[in-house]
Amino acid sequence: MAEMANLGWGEGGEAWGWQRRLLAWEEESVRECSAMLSNVVLQDHIQDFWRWLLDPIHGYTVRGTYRFLTSDAEPVVEGVQKNVWHKLVPSKVALFVWRLLQDKVPTRANLVRRNVIQPNGILCAGGCGNIETADHLFLGCNLFGSVWYLICNWLGICYVPSCQLSDHFLQFSNMASMPRFSHTFFKVIWLASIWAIWKDRNNCIFKNAVIDPQIILEKVKRDSFFWLYSNRISLAFGFHDWWRHPLLCLDVK
Ligand SMILES: [Zn+2]
Repeated sequence: MAEMANLGWGEGGEAWGWQRRLLAWEEESVRECSAMLSNVVLQDHIQDFWRWLLDPIHGYTVRGTYRFLTSDAEPVVEGVQKNVWHKLVPSKVALFVWRLLQDKVPTRANLVRRNVIQPNGILCAGGCGNIETADHLFLGCNLFGSVWYLICNWLGICYVPSCQLSDHFLQFSNMASMPRFSHTFFKVIWLASIWAIWKDRNNCIFKNAVIDPQIILEKVKRDSFFWLYSNRISLAFGFHDWWRHPLLCLDVK
């Protein structure tokens, strides 16, 4: 860190050296990181150390942590975002969704708002003519949003979805008509769907790939299965069962 600070970590500083040209959204991340570092002041002759925020003086103790967990104090992580972390889901995916639910991913609306791209670039990558906000891209878009229709067909479920991402997430991952134990699976499928839509949206922008919601659905089936498979050695079903009858695999129908 000290070396980076000396080189200069402000925008355009020499601390930021890259082996290749950054993509627009990567430049945006660097800008965010640089803005966060702008408030950091390093002190000479003081070593780095870990600090337990709940008790900066005495540090971590089991008793202090127990008190925190059993008290009525405000939780450190609030809101629906905390639900995205799950051991079955790769952390890069959870991190992306965590940022998404705070509207901090580089959708075109956000890039225009931060002056990264020109206002005339604000329209949805799906070519539908609407502004590319997060809610639009992942839910409302005729092209990308239609993936949810295919997913519901695959799962054999029918409901009236919310058009707001955090509500949609809660609604889908706590599917009311399904037994409680299946909620984890629904959450994994939701996260896999968001990830697949975002990856294909980027392929569309940066590689001129043609978007096919059916292909996105297949990626959701594949990713969700392998995330479950790699973490639960004793899955009682195979990929083809999951592909065709996911709810039978979960034993909820
Ligand atoms: Zn659209």
